[in-house]
Amino acid sequence: MDELINQAADDLAGARHVVALTGAGISVESGIAPFRGKGGLWEKYDPMEVAHIDAFMRDPGRVWSLLVKDMKVTLDTASPNDGHKGLAKLEEMGILSTVITQNIDGLHQAAGNTDVIEFHGSFARQRCMDCNQKYDTREVDISEIPPRCRCGGILRPDAVFFGEMIPQDAMWRSQQAASDCDLMLVVGTSAVVQPAALMPVYAKQSGAKIIEINPEKTPLTLDISDYLIMGQAGEVMNRIIMQMENK
Ligand SMILES: [Zn+2]
Repeated sequence: MDELINQAADDLAGARHVVALTGAGISVESGIAPFRGKGGLWEKYDPMEVAHIDAFMRDPGRVWSLLVKDMKVTLDTASPNDGHKGLAKLEEMGILSTVITQNIDGLHQAAGNTDVIEFHGSFARQRCMDCNQKYDTREVDISEIPPRCRCGGILRPDAVFFGEMIPQDAMWRSQQAASDCDLMLVVGTSAVVQPAALMPVYAKQSGAKIIEINPEKTPLTLDISDYLIMGQAGEVMNRIIMQMENK
């Protein structure tokens, strides 16, 4: 692993335009359970019952009680871990320009990244279904469920439910960013869910180097990635940054 850490530090230092693609794995160390996979929320809940737009429209209070309330409680106190902080540091160093994320936890912005494309919107905000007013999720009072806007409208997460479209501007901007970069860091995602899975492909087709950081191999590892650094995002990012700072 030391050799790959070294290699990544060199590759990052030599890159001109780095983009990161992140998924649930980067937030696990912040205490946020992934939706998919082993130990994920979808083992506990049926997503069609608690995370589909039709279920929400049918009974917003029920979806708030079953899922959204718990997510708010978890995310209200979650903070960025070394994985997020490492990416923020890379931006500070003038190396990383954009983070494309599948996550809705807002932790990249909390860590300090300024250009974050959120495929699935953000749970850090709630929006009124009537007037579109947005609220910081932490400031939403949940003593009554579902919570309401000052206008009386029901609040919903400003994130994409199943059955809803990925925001078009997020799609377009991330394709652009992926095609323009000369190095893509793929962190904490198995990259099987579209459209995120396509981004490393666009980057590769444009000649970018692809570095994966993940505890296990993914479908990208064999064909797309130049190399995989196996491990948790926080630890690996820490070591890469340390290596870069020592040079
Ligand atoms: Zn409203």
